[in-house]
Amino acid sequence: MSCPVCRETLGHVLNTSDHGNVSRISCPRCGVFESSDGIFRSLKKLEDRARISAWIRSKESDPDVICIDQKKLDELLLILPSYDFHTKRILLLELIFKRTGYPGAIVEINFAGDVALVWASKSDELKYYLASLVEDGFITKVFEHADKYKINFSGLEYLKKYQSSKGDGKQCFVAMSFSPGLLSVYENGIKPAIEDNGFISYRVDADQHVDRIDAKIVSEIKKSKFMVADVTEQKSGVYYEAGFAHGLGIPVIWCVRDDDLKNVHFDTRQYNHIVWKNEDELREKLTDLINVVMDV
Ligand SMILES: [Zn+2]
Repeated sequence: MSCPVCRETLGHVLNTSDHGNVSRISCPRCGVFESSDGIFRSLKKLEDRARISAWIRSKESDPDVICIDQKKLDELLLILPSYDFHTKRILLLELIFKRTGYPGAIVEINFAGDVALVWASKSDELKYYLASLVEDGFITKVFEHADKYKINFSGLEYLKKYQSSKGDGKQCFVAMSFSPGLLSVYENGIKPAIEDNGFISYRVDADQHVDRIDAKIVSEIKKSKFMVADVTEQKSGVYYEAGFAHGLGIPVIWCVRDDDLKNVHFDTRQYNHIVWKNEDELREKLTDLINVVMDV
């Protein structure tokens, strides 16, 4: 059978549960996972399949086999990043670097399996990034007729520069209105949800923030692993920061107070929002969502 998630590769069913509605699948691209039967049929977009496949694969070193039910699938689709071509190319360079035992070592690329590691949709896309890295002199194809590469010195330097701009992966950038009425929502709803999951909450000081995106904000967003964007009160700066993060492939969790949901901007209404009535509800929902998808 073909894998229910990526549909590209030949997976096989290892076993099904007693009730027959959960199967354990092994796929060369996605890895081993369990899921409720039939839930991936609703995934129409190739990109969504690629995102789910990449996420499952990223969990391959977890001690427990991951299990995806409909609720988890919805949450994943809500928050998993859509990396742009630039980020996927860097993921590929990082992958080659990780496999390099020492500078100059020859590294093999396995097209069927490595697609998921760079969040690519198909092996053609992976080949495209490889060719582009060769073209820019970051890697060299060692043999004409084998998929073996080595990273060049300029590739190592490029990666070092990129990684030093990335931070430690623990920060969450919070974009929201600075009106005094929402301060306790941050203090009692958003901040504890982030911190309870082991991340550090970063919010720009209100007086520092003048509704424009400056160099400090840009660098703090770039350093963040994900963003919480609460669009309550519909401030343009919040949309701008969230759009910036989205373009960088940083996952954005959208939130809005229920009485303001109808005012959510047309362009972002397509994304699911955490809809909350009070700060306790926001804290609870946000804690759950961060826990499910950011536990890398
Ligand atoms: Zn698969």
